[in-house]
Amino acid sequence: MGIQALVGDELREGIPGAAHLRGDCPVCAGQHLQHSVSFEALPVSCNSLHPDAKSAAAAATGHFALAFCRSCEHFFNAAFEDDRVGYTPDYENSLHFSPRFVKFVEDLAHRLSSAYGLEGKLAVDVGCGKGDFLKRLCSTSGATGIGFDRSYEDNRSAKVAGVEFINDWFGDAYPQVKPDFVSCRHVLEHIANPIAFLEGLRSHPGIGSNSVFYIEVPNALYTLRDMGIWDLIYEHVSYFTPNSLRVAMQTAGFEVLDQGSSYGDQYLFIEARPVQSPMAVGLSTSATVDELVRRFDRTYRDKVAWWRRYLSKRDPAQTVVWGAGSKGITFVNVVPEAARIAALVDVNPHKQGRFAPGTGTPVVGPESLRGRPLQSIIVMNPLYRDEVAQAARQLGLAPEIIVA
Ligand SMILES: [Zn+2]
Repeated sequence: MGIQALVGDELREGIPGAAHLRGDCPVCAGQHLQHSVSFEALPVSCNSLHPDAKSAAAAATGHFALAFCRSCEHFFNAAFEDDRVGYTPDYENSLHFSPRFVKFVEDLAHRLSSAYGLEGKLAVDVGCGKGDFLKRLCSTSGATGIGFDRSYEDNRSAKVAGVEFINDWFGDAYPQVKPDFVSCRHVLEHIANPIAFLEGLRSHPGIGSNSVFYIEVPNALYTLRDMGIWDLIYEHVSYFTPNSLRVAMQTAGFEVLDQGSSYGDQYLFIEARPVQSPMAVGLSTSATVDELVRRFDRTYRDKVAWWRRYLSKRDPAQTVVWGAGSKGITFVNVVPEAARIAALVDVNPHKQGRFAPGTGTPVVGPESLRGRPLQSIIVMNPLYRDEVAQAARQLGLAPEIIVA
């Protein structure tokens, strides 16, 4: 895989496929862009695991070219092609098998239930995935719920009374659905035109002026500041900062009620209500973010180089990556030496026995590591380090455990 890290301003002419790069920001339409890291080929659907290594290795890839908007502090893949990504039931990105994550969702459900008095209300989850969050929210609050997602499949966990799922978008075809509360978690970053998407939600016939929206996305500042560089994936067109998320909501006609970061600063959330007449949107940028962007390219290349050296000194057959989510898939596809590691380990049974797009790396469960000689476990998310160390001990393993 070719990696091309490009630094600095106005280097568009030097970027492969520059003619196809978007020249304006999808949030504020600003054209003062700074181009950043670029990959020639990332799997276009890194959460779609494959049934065999051959089809995994033949998975479609796409060009990724990170751009930064100096007007609203938004990041986006300027090379994104909307028609390349499809979401089907084999799209598997549920994190609800990790105790750390379950605790986060429980706390969130409690907070939202009491902040917005959801008992007896109707909650709609747009892009509900497998429905875990909505079930938790409704069982915690006593709300009824409807989840919308085209990749929804009814194949797991107990039903919750009053919660139903519709295998479709939450479009105008459902005017009878009049939610008091709309959650939309980890959807907006997938949408090529986030403003049109948010305007569509706001103007849905079932939405009233008192409908409260809860939007959650990954935090681009975490990616920048803590070098969460494995979070760059093709499916994510947009990388929101607190500033660009606010600008997006206000531009689409919402009044912001609350916003902040959560999950160890890895997520951003914003709570908002539709307004009749959109207010003026204030654009501002900070020197801090500008500095982070400039450092990102160099640190990114240093980090990839460090992992290339690390892996070249180890036996790939005795090395595994823990976490077959987007971070793990990006890691094995971006670090050339990581393509040869033994396996990706994941506690989610729906991922086990499948293969990573691009490299074709097998995904196995922790139990299959028992009795195997293992030098290194590379953990993709620092939040899970303790969980992984404990699991390794229980399996009788004593490898080096290192966070990517
Ligand atoms: Zn912008």
